[in-house]
Amino acid sequence: MSKELFFNNFRSFISKYKKVVIVSHVNPDGDAIGSSLAFYFFLQKFGIDVKIIIPNDFPSFLAWMPGIENILVFDKNSEKGVEYLNAADLICYIDFNHPSRTGLVHNDLCHCSKTPKMLIDHHRDTDYSQFEAYLSELETSSTAELVAELIQSQGFDKYLDDKIAICLLVGIMTDTGSFAHSIYHPETFEICGKLISPTVDYQLIHSKIYNTFSENRLRLLGYSISERMVTLDEYHTAYIYLTKADLERFNYQVGDTEGVVNFPLMIDNIKMAVLITERQGVIRFSFRSKGDFSVHEVARAHFNGGGHTNAAGGTLECSIEQAIEKLLAVLPQYKALLNK
Ligand code: 5GP
Ligand code: MN
Repeated sequence: MSKELFFNNFRSFISKYKKVVIVSHVNPDGDAIGSSLAFYFFLQKFGIDVKIIIPNDFPSFLAWMPGIENILVFDKNSEKGVEYLNAADLICYIDFNHPSRTGLVHNDLCHCSKTPKMLIDHHRDTDYSQFEAYLSELETSSTAELVAELIQSQGFDKYLDDKIAICLLVGIMTDTGSFAHSIYHPETFEICGKLISPTVDYQLIHSKIYNTFSENRLRLLGYSISERMVTLDEYHTAYIYLTKADLERFNYQVGDTEGVVNFPLMIDNIKMAVLITERQGVIRFSFRSKGDFSVHEVARAHFNGGGHTNAAGGTLECSIEQAIEKLLAVLPQYKALLNK
């Protein structure tokens, strides 16, 4: 289904549904929350009863966002979440494309196999056969940009308001690292230009996202770089590892390691950065790269994950020592590509 077809059919498609549940991915980021909330406010304008479910809590730097109090956090209130899912006549996947990305919600989503599904997302390897309608573009900064395009196609003059504009800007800003990467076309800037207004202050939004660290979070970032970063010049790679004890030392809160993985890429000859964190029972990997080296391939082939060319994630069930060993064992096969 092309973008144009999706836009042209959207009104008649959505008018068939009265109770819509938006679901986004586990460890929701600014794009997951921003695009879900913007779509939520947009659908409400059609008189639709809309709910948003996220598998686990959002980071505190998003707590100020308009409408955030209406999001149901599944691992805190799964009974209500199941109720919402069972009552839905349409389930929208926002910023992910496979139910395995929904953590605890996964099982209950599978029980809703007969409920029509819609998708708005920018990840690859989508099985389109499961969706009644989809807006799926790989070469787009963020899901928020897709939602912005959708709303624009229906008329910004009719449907855009400050709350929607703020949520969309948060999604685009965070998924592009403040417009530093994942920009594939000038339309990203053009649409942001239309979202900004005297009452939608880009600098203020940016400050609310990036200048609201706790002292512990900033110290954890400093510690990650000075004490826990290992550079492997031979592979143009740097990794940072954080143990459970490290996180506890800095009183880790959800979202505190967000962005840490980007810092090693600031080193001139580093092409891939990896953050390895010890979480409850699993090891979480975050990958970032510069240029055309695909961390999606690395995450998919060896770390049960995936993502985009320059940003991906994955998990392993092992100790942190084994996780580092695994990374070191995998690197030689990418040596040529990393030295290109
Ligand atoms: P992050 O490192 O910020 O957690 O994730 C970076 C990107 O990779 C995001 O776009 C996210 O959607 C994707 N991603 C993260 N973890 C996974 C995973 O386990 N599986 C897949 N398929 N994608 C992931
Ligand atoms: Mn995204």
